[in-house]
Amino acid sequence: MAIATLVLFDIDGTLLSIAERELNIFGQALEKVFGDIGPLDGYSFAGKTDHQIVVDLLSRVGKNASEIEAGLPAMQEHYFDILDGMLAQSSMAVLPGVVELLNGLAASRSVILGLQTGNWRRAAEIKLTRYGLGHYFDVGAFGDGQLDRLGLPPLACRRAVEATGETIGAENTVIIGDTALDVACARSSGMVSIGVATGSTGRDELEEAGADLVVSTLAEIDADELLDLAR
Ligand SMILES: [Mg+2]
Repeated sequence: MAIATLVLFDIDGTLLSIAERELNIFGQALEKVFGDIGPLDGYSFAGKTDHQIVVDLLSRVGKNASEIEAGLPAMQEHYFDILDGMLAQSSMAVLPGVVELLNGLAASRSVILGLQTGNWRRAAEIKLTRYGLGHYFDVGAFGDGQLDRLGLPPLACRRAVEATGETIGAENTVIIGDTALDVACARSSGMVSIGVATGSTGRDELEEAGADLVVSTLAEIDADELLDLAR
């Protein structure tokens, strides 16, 4: 079997710029179902799975696991309903170099493109569809039911092997993300990491986290340079 390269992208701050208003509607959807959740100031959404964010925020106001589980489907339904409308009016945009890099990678027959994102799958689909990026990705690991972001890359890797029948090792997998947690995900799984400083984390912090390469934007790297890191 051929050895393929799996390239896994984070979404928020990596493919798409971060919209503050999205954090607000996430909070609104929680409050609609669960009541007052207190101020969101001081809570960092960066790098966390949607599931973890829900559990963190609701635990702070004393909700237990069974209350959270009972209300979660209604909260998600409300959030997905208002997400696309919010995106239509938001300043969220595809980040520099993203489309060129995806086109370059998609043109290589040995590359499998995937997602590793804390977003719920439906939220990821809504965002990527709105910005015309949904068709690039063959596989993904999402935040549904996942408390631990570190579990996502191995899951995406297993799904890629199942979907393609290719042999894919950790050393042939590249994770591209905008937070130290994305870099930690790659390192904990023995994968190659590229940190991109287009989200909430600066170059210094991504370097300190141990990224194999740090770029200011994805316009700084092309598909061949990226694939050289995973050979
Ligand atoms: Mg991100």
